[in-house]
Parts: sequence; C-alpha cells; structure tokens
Amino acid sequence: MNTSVTVMIYTQNKERGERLIKEAFEEAGRIERIMEPRKGDGELRQINERNRSGWFVLSPELSAVMEEAWRYYELSGGAFDPTIAPVKWLWEFDEGGKIPEETELKDNLRFVGMSSIELRGDSLFVPDTRIKFDLGGVAKGFAVDRMIDYLQKNDVESILVNAGGDIAFRGEKPGEKPWVIGMRHPRLNRTIVLSNNPYPAVATSGDYERCFFEDGVRYHHILDPESGFPARGCISVTVWTNTAMDADILATTIFVLGPEKGLALAERLDNVETCIYFETDGHVESVLSSGVRGRIGL
Ligand code: ADP
Ligand code: MG
Repeated sequence: MNTSVTVMIYTQNKERGERLIKEAFEEAGRIERIMEPRKGDGELRQINERNRSGWFVLSPELSAVMEEAWRYYELSGGAFDPTIAPVKWLWEFDEGGKIPEETELKDNLRFVGMSSIELRGDSLFVPDTRIKFDLGGVAKGFAVDRMIDYLQKNDVESILVNAGGDIAFRGEKPGEKPWVIGMRHPRLNRTIVLSNNPYPAVATSGDYERCFFEDGVRYHHILDPESGFPARGCISVTVWTNTAMDADILATTIFVLGPEKGLALAERLDNVETCIYFETDGHVESVLSSGVRGRIGL
C-alpha cells in the first residue's frame, strides 16, 4: 500500500498478542493484493488487464469497496471517481512524477467516469477495456477496518491501527486512558491534538504526501476527475467518522470538492466531522465542521 502500518494492542498474553498482530498484517496483505491495480496477480489487476469488456463477478472484498466508492461518486457528483486510473498513471507519481502531455491527458480523460459502468450486487459491468480502476483513495481505509475486525473477532478490546494516517481504534488504553490521535499541520511542523475523538476512525488527505514541484508549482496525487490535474481547493483534509474506509474516501472526496462544497457535504452527512486546510493569498486558513468547532484548538 506504499505506506507504513502500525498496530497497537493491549492483551493479557504477549505471545498471543504478537501472533494476532502478525495475522492482522497478513489480512492487510491479502486486501492489498486484491486491490493492487497494476502489479501482481490480484483481482483488480486482472480486471484492469482484461482483454474483454462485460460483466465481472467480484469477491466480497472488492464488491464492498466498489459499492462504497460508487456511493461517494454519486454523493459527490463525481468528485470521488475510482475510474481516475488511466489519468492518474500518466502522472507517474511512483517514479517521481511528471506533467502529462495535453493530448494524452485528453485521450485518457475520455475513459474517466462511472456513467457507463454498472454494479449489480457482486457483479460489475465494464463496457470498455480502456476503463481502469484505482482504489488508492479507499483501499487503505478498508484494510484498516479489516485489521480491526480481525483483532476484535479474536477478543482484543484495546486496538489502534494506523496506515499512513488512516486510523481506527477500539476501546481505550489500560487505565481508561483514551487513544490520543494527533493531526499534522499541512505546512508547519506542528501536531494538533484533539482533547477527545469524535468518532473511532480518522483519515487525512494532504497535498504534501505524494507530490513533486515544477517551476515552483506543487503537483500532488489527488486529482480532479474533470481536468485530470491536481485538485487545487484544499491543502489538507481530515475526516472523523465511524469507519476508516469512509474516512479515507471522504478525506479524498472533500479535498477534490474544495473547502466550500466539501464542508457542505460533511455537514449534510450524519456522523461525519471534518477539518479543512486551504490557502488564500499565500495564507493558510482552516475551517471545522459544526460538530468539532470549538473542540479543536488550531
Ligand atoms: P493517501 O493515499 O496519501 O492517504 P488519499 O487517500 O487522498 O491519499 O488517496 C489518494 C489516491 O486516491 C491517489 O493516489 C489515487 O490513487 C486516488 N485518487 C486520486 N484522485 C482521486 C479521485 N478524484 N477519486 C478517487 N480516487 C482518487
Ligand atoms: Mg483517501
């Protein structure tokens, strides 16, 4: 998943705890293989490299993620779009990054959009072999939820999983101490700590995570599906909600929508809070949704 993953648990038995952590990582590895779009022999790669159009029967994991991606595609008017793949790959962020040629960007933008795709139960209809999927905006969150599920099923009550800023927790640390989660300021070397967590999952999307500079301009990996260029409204978005998958998708979605529409989406949804950083005239500003306003000192 191109990131570091940390798991913290408290158990009575150290050996058993260590074994469960190892098994939780195996579960994450399994999810990663399924969702990897271009490498290995996983399910999504096979769909992306198919030489036929038509219906595909999805595994329960891939269909759960697709369904959720679909929901947010519709809720956001297409700001979150897992068919961004052919355009995203032109940017070659994994190899340091480059600005795509205008013509190749235009050619590939034609295949971005979910309007011709169908999802019925666990079956996905893809009408054109040039349509490709990238679940980079949701897979990490999903993997975090699955790791939490696995540990909970094995009776661990005190858990925190952090996959590169996509975080979920259960219970408390011993002595009824709450998990303390910090939020990094997008430009200053500063961590903002919440006095209490509004929900058990939180994710952040920032323009500083995967980016390169050309002529003093920052190019990052959260793309506006309309233009195929990095979304310009926000510099960092943090979302609190009930699952890491939804927090992950929503952080990316709100980032693409920009501060105004993004905040409106968060306010419209139940059990969602957000902190949005944006830049105006070189100044960093921030806005909080109503449920966390006054509870975080920025
Ligand atoms: P990070 O992976 O750094 O936590 P995000 O969760 O915001 O960041 O995910 C960014 C990834 O999401 C990109 O690398 C890409 O794979 C995918 N992506 C980029 N733009 C979009 C978009 N508009 N809709 C859906 N997925 C996107
Ligand atoms: Mg995301």
